[in-house]
Amino acid sequence: MRIEAIDLHHVAMPLLEPWRTACSDETAIESVIVRLIGEGGVEGWGETAPHRGPLYSPEWAFGVFCVLRDWLAPLVLGQEVESGRDLQELLRPVKGNFFAKAGLDIAWWDAHAKAEGRPLWQLIGGVRRTVEAGADLGVKDTIDELLREIAAAIEAGFKRVKLKYRPGWDIDMVSAVRSAFPDMVFHIDCNSGYALDDLDMFRKLDRFGLAMIEQPLGHDDLLDHARLQAEIETPICLDETITSPARARHAIDLKACRWINIKAGRVGGLTNAVAVHELCREAGIGNWIGGMLESALGQAPSLALATLPNVRYPSDIFPSRRFYAADLADPELSLSGPGMAEAPLRPGHGWLPDPHRLARWTRNTASLTAPAATMAAC
Ligand code: MG
Repeated sequence: MRIEAIDLHHVAMPLLEPWRTACSDETAIESVIVRLIGEGGVEGWGETAPHRGPLYSPEWAFGVFCVLRDWLAPLVLGQEVESGRDLQELLRPVKGNFFAKAGLDIAWWDAHAKAEGRPLWQLIGGVRRTVEAGADLGVKDTIDELLREIAAAIEAGFKRVKLKYRPGWDIDMVSAVRSAFPDMVFHIDCNSGYALDDLDMFRKLDRFGLAMIEQPLGHDDLLDHARLQAEIETPICLDETITSPARARHAIDLKACRWINIKAGRVGGLTNAVAVHELCREAGIGNWIGGMLESALGQAPSLALATLPNVRYPSDIFPSRRFYAADLADPELSLSGPGMAEAPLRPGHGWLPDPHRLARWTRNTASLTAPAATMAAC
């Protein structure tokens, strides 16, 4: 497929309520929407949501928009791209910038699946249409508020609850949660908020029977995670650290984790996400699919990835109304049953932006076509 044109939208999608983690407090999710036009007019859409500032990873939404506009889109416009690997090879001269690369990669896969007339999840090797979704709760004002929300999540049928964890919202919070819900599956997400100096605190967490501790240490660390995993019983799950298949291989070789949470945005797109899944499957490392609070369009590749065979723990797939009064994408994403979501049978990943909401929430746009592509400075 020859890539004829690329449109970019840097958007800010208002949240129902602020989202608090160890990284930041957000009132809107900033994201970049990519529209890719292939020969014959086939159209693919991708979303990549690194957040408003470089606080989850070194990338940030407006920076991603600039890198896509000035560096990555010009590398692929006018090029024949027959596979995700072809696309990644064209993007290789640009170092890092995984979220930016993911926007193009996901849009290409959507266009490719539409050209093939097949649902994306089937095209990447999915083995089940119905997947498990977990609940994810941020930092609250009080423990009582958190306990009420956990009770509601359990009542709604979720099989596991993930708790954001940061200094001041830590051991006492987990202790209260475990006392109130002795049999529920919980894990915590530290969003790289701690260091190896906190080893004693992590040892204390072993007594609470958590399913895993997600990204306890630095966002780019492997060695200290390997040291920590050797000292505690609770499995470590890496998130921020795993930015590519090579990083996943290094984590596996170093025994830095027992789980890897896969996010297509964080690893440069679906092509690399599937490669990370294969590495983990061969090594006996479990996977589940994480999320960045994207729109339903941004969650579409997550839903496809959650159908892969080595996904063995409920994924972060959220109904649109969990975070947004109105979703940017159409249709809105709904769960198919208690803690369950269903991959669509529509060709492609199955979602489009709503044109009116896209126009209303766009902060910056760019349109590039194959003959007119230039490499302007950001
Ligand atoms: Mg995480």
